[in-house]
Amino acid sequence: MEKIIEKIVSLCKRRGFIFQSSEIYGGFSAVYDYGPLGIELKNNISQLWWKEMTQVHENIVGIDSGILMHPKIWEASGHVGAFNDPLVDCKKCKSRYRADEFSEEYSSLNWEEVQCPKCGTTGSLTSPRQFNLMFKTHVGPLQESGTEAFLRPETAQGIYVNYQLVQGSMRMKVPFGIAQIGKAFRNEIIARNFIFRTREFEQMEMQYFVKPGADDESLDFWKERRLKFYLDQLGISHKKLRFHQHNENELAHYAKEAWDIEYDFPFGWSEIEGIHNRTDYDLSQHQEFSGKNLSYFDQKNNDRFLPYIIETSAGLNRMLLTTIADAYWEDEKNNRTVMKFHPKIAPIKAVVCPLLKKDGLPEKARQIVNLLKPHFKVTYDQQGSIGKRYYRQDEAGTPFCITIDHKSLKDNTITLRYRDTMKQERISIDQLLQHIKENI
Ligand code: ATP
Repeated sequence: MEKIIEKIVSLCKRRGFIFQSSEIYGGFSAVYDYGPLGIELKNNISQLWWKEMTQVHENIVGIDSGILMHPKIWEASGHVGAFNDPLVDCKKCKSRYRADEFSEEYSSLNWEEVQCPKCGTTGSLTSPRQFNLMFKTHVGPLQESGTEAFLRPETAQGIYVNYQLVQGSMRMKVPFGIAQIGKAFRNEIIARNFIFRTREFEQMEMQYFVKPGADDESLDFWKERRLKFYLDQLGISHKKLRFHQHNENELAHYAKEAWDIEYDFPFGWSEIEGIHNRTDYDLSQHQEFSGKNLSYFDQKNNDRFLPYIIETSAGLNRMLLTTIADAYWEDEKNNRTVMKFHPKIAPIKAVVCPLLKKDGLPEKARQIVNLLKPHFKVTYDQQGSIGKRYYRQDEAGTPFCITIDHKSLKDNTITLRYRDTMKQERISIDQLLQHIKENI
């Protein structure tokens, strides 16, 4: 039986969600392009996140910092020295692995006794070598040592180095947050599981600045809020979400406490978002490396301190994969595949179909498209039998199909078909817009 993830990859290509990058050149490993439905879905998800962060929470503001930044930032953050993955090669079949795939405590493994998972040879694996994940580039025409720069491997540092400018210009008072959505790049050793781990991806990060001592309570608050986002905003199944707390081996050296939200993907439970108590590590590092005083002055209490940071860090692409994996449904009874997206994130909210390509039905259908399109994304489809059109939209995850027939011309009603139940009802065109608005 074809694996679920392969079926998902195939559906994503067939329906215009996600394509392998540079496909006509044979592909480019671990980079993906988003097609017309994929970008709608991605935008819907990121807009919900942005709204949740910067609109629902009045004390959080957004920024958009550069992908290229002063190289010293990556020394201060620890990325130059320690943003490494342990790389292991098979001398026989040339397969490549991350050593921590074999064991979290890989440094104590005797590699002579370990078997290559691909070719089965024992003793063919090299000892782990540390490999820095940052992509290097050069700024300016000369490739010499002083011109080296990095593509950011996370968006968080852009927030830390701007924190005082944001705080001052917006007169923010601790506790406050700064949110950012943007691209990040990591030269991952192994990239697999479709868009789960890629070399170019987008992050949605929010850094929350709190007074030391208020950090534990804030971490608990954000853990709860973030889980709620997946349930209420994205409509993800509760039983497929869980928290995983980092143990001592997993905990980054700067973190006091760290939790991942994990999703039960077809390839197993995996991290989709991290919620971390980063203490004052980042600001104290930037203070030391930049020589600038980055402390915050609390005027009310005449108190000066370096804030602690609670971070919520999610991958937009992983969040999108979560929504796709959760929505994928093989409806065997009706012999169809359905993407049961929450209507809020569905790429297209409704399709308008004239039953026939004649008798004035297409014109009437166009009138309905014009009525709905200022309010949400709709599409028009007159190709093929009505059953085929419905099934196409089921795979695209469109919650509503609107069909215009001869009766529509007489009494100004249409047939509304619901994606998940396939139930159909006749409703008046006058009520259509309001009805759909209430259900998305
Ligand atoms: P992992 O252990 O999976 O490599 P990480 O713990 O290094 O991830 P973070 O640095 O905490 O991840 O990044 C925060 C979020 O960014 C992750 O939860 C994930 O959603 C996303 N992310 C990180 N690396 C990638 C990647 N290579 N491709 C897609 N998303 C990623």
